[in-house]
Amino acid sequence: MKKRTRPPILLIHGGCGSTPPTASQLKTIEAALDRGETLLQKGTSALDAVEAAVVVLEKSGRFNAGKGSKRQMDGIARMDASVMNGRDLSAGAVAAMEGILTPVRAARLVMERTPHLLLVGQSAERLSRLFHLPPLPPSLAAPKPPPHDLSFGKWEPLFRKLQGKRDDEAAELGTVGAVARDKEGNVAAATSTGGIRMMLPGRVGDSPLIGAGTYADNLAGAVSMTGLGEAIIRAGLAKEITLAMEGGDSPEAAGSSALIRMRRRIGGEAGAIILSAEGDFALLHTTDSMPGGYRAGRRRKTAGRFQKVMED
Ligand code: ASP
Repeated sequence: MKKRTRPPILLIHGGCGSTPPTASQLKTIEAALDRGETLLQKGTSALDAVEAAVVVLEKSGRFNAGKGSKRQMDGIARMDASVMNGRDLSAGAVAAMEGILTPVRAARLVMERTPHLLLVGQSAERLSRLFHLPPLPPSLAAPKPPPHDLSFGKWEPLFRKLQGKRDDEAAELGTVGAVARDKEGNVAAATSTGGIRMMLPGRVGDSPLIGAGTYADNLAGAVSMTGLGEAIIRAGLAKEITLAMEGGDSPEAAGSSALIRMRRRIGGEAGAIILSAEGDFALLHTTDSMPGGYRAGRRRKTAGRFQKVMED
């Protein structure tokens, strides 16, 4: 099947939530878009472009990924990330990994240097060190004294007590993700996160799970999710959205019906950047804000919010 010629396309999100982004977060998104777009224009693959864009966001410390990752309730930051190549459906992911600055690169290593798809914890960290991925700065890698007593029986009342309260540490930082379509028409997706507020140690969300937080298939399109991982996993959102596009839905139709269905059946808030195999795209969120942006030839935008999906 001959693909329509389109300029390369890159979409980025910086997490969904209720607070608008800061000027420096928007500037970082611009920098990530610049990086990815430059590569795509040179003819680099969509996979390389999404990885490079996410690395800019991870290294910035301005998002809840890499350097800016939230800490779990025992005071340790454990990170999740994944990448997927729509050309051959190859994918790689890491989960609950400590101490590495660029988890998305670790996910790519799992994909290309191991026979596996997902590595967790120390194994993911060991692989990253073997390939000389940069560590987190020591002050960020060191555990902070646990702010909460997590001994058996204590955490359930604690959750109830903290529910609904604002978590000042990194409350305004969001997960990051990118999707792209290169000059050859190949699509790819990448997502990276430090998780959500109030996580028990070892909690893993949707971001490293292929089909939940990330999906890419040249026959359908590419998706990176943000939002409440527990809801996104149960709804299988990234795969659901790509399947709907494969069936002929536009990115906007596929994304909004999946997000509305999740809210009705499960609850929770989420956002998605969605790119079809043909190069149509949408940036959707159920929350008030989702910083992000896109570059698609002359169509270019960076903003704190895009299209809010509402139930009828
Ligand atoms: N989806 C991420 C998680 O559940 C968090 C987020 O996107 O804000 O780990």
